[in-house]
Amino acid sequence: MADRALQILQNVFGYDEFRSYQQAIIHNVLNHNDTLAVMPTGGGKSVCYQIPALIFPGLTLVISPLISLMEDQVSQLKALGVQAALLNSTLTRAEYQNTLSMISSGTIKLLYMAPETLMLDRTRDLLTSLRVDCLTIDEAHCISEWGHDFRPEYRQLAEVRKTFPEAVCIALTATATPRVQQDIKNILMIAGPNEFIASFDRTNLFLQVSEKKNPVAQTLGLIDRFKNRSGIIYCNSRKQVDELTQILNENGCSVASYHAGLSNEIRKANQAAFIRDDIQVIVATIAFGMGINKSNVRFVLHYDMPQNIESYYQQIGRAGRDGLSAHCQFLFSYGDIQKVKFFISQKVASEQRVANLHLNALIGFAETEMCRRVPLLHYFGEKYSAEKCNLCDNCLSEDRPLIDVTVPAQKFLSCMYRTGQMFGSAHVIDILRGSKSKKVIEKRHDQLSTYGIGSELSKSQWIQLSRSLIQKGLIVQDQEFGSLKLTHVARSVLKGEQQVEIRLAEKRDIPEKASANKQSDLDYNRELFEHLRACRKSLADRENVPPYVVFSDKALVEMSAYFPQSQESLLQINGVGSVKLDRYGDAFLQVITDFCQAHQIAEIVRHSPTSTTLNSPRTTGERANRAKPRHVVVGEKFCQGQSLEAIQSEFNLKFNTLLSHLHKYQMEEGRLPKSDAFLLKSKLSPELLKRVVQAFRENGAERLRPVFKVFQEAVSYDELHLIRLHYLVHHGA
Ligand code: ADP
Ligand code: ZN
Repeated sequence: MADRALQILQNVFGYDEFRSYQQAIIHNVLNHNDTLAVMPTGGGKSVCYQIPALIFPGLTLVISPLISLMEDQVSQLKALGVQAALLNSTLTRAEYQNTLSMISSGTIKLLYMAPETLMLDRTRDLLTSLRVDCLTIDEAHCISEWGHDFRPEYRQLAEVRKTFPEAVCIALTATATPRVQQDIKNILMIAGPNEFIASFDRTNLFLQVSEKKNPVAQTLGLIDRFKNRSGIIYCNSRKQVDELTQILNENGCSVASYHAGLSNEIRKANQAAFIRDDIQVIVATIAFGMGINKSNVRFVLHYDMPQNIESYYQQIGRAGRDGLSAHCQFLFSYGDIQKVKFFISQKVASEQRVANLHLNALIGFAETEMCRRVPLLHYFGEKYSAEKCNLCDNCLSEDRPLIDVTVPAQKFLSCMYRTGQMFGSAHVIDILRGSKSKKVIEKRHDQLSTYGIGSELSKSQWIQLSRSLIQKGLIVQDQEFGSLKLTHVARSVLKGEQQVEIRLAEKRDIPEKASANKQSDLDYNRELFEHLRACRKSLADRENVPPYVVFSDKALVEMSAYFPQSQESLLQINGVGSVKLDRYGDAFLQVITDFCQAHQIAEIVRHSPTSTTLNSPRTTGERANRAKPRHVVVGEKFCQGQSLEAIQSEFNLKFNTLLSHLHKYQMEEGRLPKSDAFLLKSKLSPELLKRVVQAFRENGAERLRPVFKVFQEAVSYDELHLIRLHYLVHHGA
């Protein structure tokens, strides 16, 4: 079964290998162990239940809270040639009947529905007559009152488990808190060791916090840097959203807005335009994002303060779901903190404490001089163990020199001491800088020995210093009043027993190249990428699906890096499986071939999908020097009597890539032996086999699609691939 899972990952989904945890989770489910899977957004939760669903003989039910999420999943599955459907109240009678008959006949492998639908008597009646092998609970945190998105309907899922005692249950969520995890396990009765918790580190996100100096210019800079790439900008108020949208519009950016104050239609239209790449940027309040599966969001900008670390994490999580690098920038200002503090002060006392804790954790994240992943992951109970991530502003600016600030630090601390540790930093700085402010005069702080001794630093440098002293644990800030207190560390600094070093200089801007993730991003041809993007857009519009459903950005990046010019090489691209190859392959190959001819670029051959090193594109001159084409080598091995498995593992090929090589060899050389190897691999009944062979005879064997249609998509492409080869070697063409 393990082989089967990998085969499906490669042939249906078009991926080379499992990501961490996917394989273990799938095995656990296939072994009928109830499972909890906790993975961050974009971690790849879907295949964890979709692959078992394709292996189990019966039906897999998928429970999800949002229609938009389900619709998106179903359309992605359909694009992969997988039979999936959505059952909900908005279906017309005819659609409903049609779905029912496909379910009853066993054509549908995955059936999505909201918990409400599952509770309906007619749904229960329908399902009890069927074999349900797996019950998938997506967004499982909705079951817990401790989660951020509790849904009472989810509670009843505990009951549903009893209705399908034979079905294995898999619960998936991206919410990390242990409390919620425990709740899910208790309610769904998932036993002890069957939980898989992946790291919450999103290793393709670049994290940057910048001082909010000229936010409009900073925003325009970011949009310009990510020309034609999708981005989300979060603001804290509807008014701010409207204002910023207008300014960006006036500056020629392709933007639309999203907030709860807009009419339903406008919101829907703007969201759809964003998802379909009709507009580049969406400016939104936090109302935007739930149920958005768009995989090619390249940047998220926090124009204002996020609510807390958890929502910040959730919002930046909408970037880079395709695994390519994405940029997250947070414009941080002390003015914004004051606003948040004001809102907090309006709350009742018990809420104020929690809100202050959240705010302080967020400020700590923004002000840290350590790798930003340390405080971020710490918040989720994870220890970041690498020394540097090299994907955050702090890690990249560590070459800023350390400055010894022991003397100004002593001045600051002693001024705090002399004023009784009763004031915040603003007042202490006023004293140090010799201000004649009303408060200074009234309190007679101009009489202190520390008055006016701090002119060597600017006001903002003093603020930065005081923040660093908090970071370093020399002083603590009273949560309620904001006054600063000395700690025992401060005392040893005051006594001259300890030095203080900080990086005072302004942070440089991060050069664009530095923030690209070396691991996940290839060096690719931008011009070709744009051509492929246009091709993808027109196909997507024709089929009325979002572009990322056709191919992810990652697939296009790989195409623009390797220049595949045959079906076999196209299959090597991430996310290209048999169905997508058949559906879209020709269109993309045409674009690539035209481009390569015009620019004298040759394909770059990948020997093993995982161990590729890329150089700059080679020109056709070098092509002649290369060894025999892969399909010839593979074909010859087969002619020499090697088994399909042996060849597959020797060259590290996906199974359908192997078949494509053999097909090409047969078409060019026409001399594969009359072997039964292909039929032995087929799982069809002898009766169906005969009919498929007949269909090739009648429809020709050049393309698989016509035959796929003859059998109303019920015979998989993998099978068709096999049988076509059998047909060609035995009956010739
Ligand atoms: P989640 O539901 O956890 O947010 P998804 O299941 O939507 O994540 O997967 C995120 C992205 O990663 C999708 O584009 C998906 O196709 C891709 N993906 C999943 N598994 C793999 C894999 N093994 N190799 C390459 N890409 C993968
Ligand atoms: Zn870092």
